[in-house]
Amino acid sequence: MRLRWTVRIGSIAGIEIGVHPSWLIVYALFAYSAFEGSSLLDFPLSHAQRVALGLTVSLLLFASVVVHEFAHAFVARRQGIPIGNITLFLFGGVATILREPGSPSDEVWMAGAGPLASFCLSALFGLFWLVFRALRFEWGWALAEFLTLGNALLGLFNLLPAFPSDGGRIVRAALWRTLKSQARATGFAALISSVVASLLILAGIAFAILSYHSDPNWSFALWPVVIGGFLFQASLVSARQARINLALERMSVTECLSPKLISVPAETSVSAFVSSIVVGDPSAAYAVVDDGRFIGLIAVRDTGAVPHNLWDVTPVRAVMTPAHRMPSINADAAACDALSQLELHTVRELPVFEGGSLMGTVTHDTIFAALAKKGTAQP
Ligand SMILES: [Zn+2]
Repeated sequence: MRLRWTVRIGSIAGIEIGVHPSWLIVYALFAYSAFEGSSLLDFPLSHAQRVALGLTVSLLLFASVVVHEFAHAFVARRQGIPIGNITLFLFGGVATILREPGSPSDEVWMAGAGPLASFCLSALFGLFWLVFRALRFEWGWALAEFLTLGNALLGLFNLLPAFPSDGGRIVRAALWRTLKSQARATGFAALISSVVASLLILAGIAFAILSYHSDPNWSFALWPVVIGGFLFQASLVSARQARINLALERMSVTECLSPKLISVPAETSVSAFVSSIVVGDPSAAYAVVDDGRFIGLIAVRDTGAVPHNLWDVTPVRAVMTPAHRMPSINADAAACDALSQLELHTVRELPVFEGGSLMGTVTHDTIFAALAKKGTAQP
């Protein structure tokens, strides 16, 4: 996620950490809550000690959020998924994971790593809590107590079954395993999220109304309303993405073929290819054939590697991408498989074969053009 005004504060293990100004609001709020909460402790602290406690608790809590996000990032990286950055903002932290996990079990590991890290931190601060209490070091005791509870709550909050939060991802992985379709699982997970988010909003409003007269801190009940609103909006985005993915799962690659595929004999010189074929019939890619057999693909950009004075004597065979070095796909595959092949191999065109014969090529653009046409053709 790249929010505007995010300030980069550093990077760890090649992963950038950024802070969005909205984070300062939660920092101040948490510091104030810890300051206020410290008056309820069994032992008295001075005003200055309470101020220092509030500021330190809030800072260490956000360091804990960063640890939580790093846990996600490291597991994702071990699964070969690239990580963009980690951003702290109004609702805590978020690690930008640039690709969806490849399998339900990968997703469970990746999503579970964050809450697991939070529970480990909670246990670690719990140890400090016991030690400081035994030593009667009251300030440290209060600090460790807040951080133990804070991290436990952070872990639990993230396990709420609201996609795309960690708990929601674990739910989706379970549905994915059962339904055998990531897109359908995402649709269901988004539906569950919108219910959870609505309940959170209603509970917050109900609590605020009920405690309005009796509790001076009634406005804190509005936090679940804000968070519920955020989760609800995120569930709508996920549901839309799921609909697109589902349409891609249901569309065959043969519906996304490039309109035409022009064949070029393998011995055609680069200059003849550019001057007659490309000029006469511009296309993204051309099939190179030898004796009527498909042997590779050539695009205009491939000719850039040949010095101009050699164009007449260089056959297209020498500059094409040979078929054996190219990923390909069967005509019975779905459009989503073609899209993941294109992304996985970072290629622009993917040849489509049916029973060994070339039917045409698909590209990112032809797939989304077919999807858009389908979207307008359906009510
Ligand atoms: Zn998380």
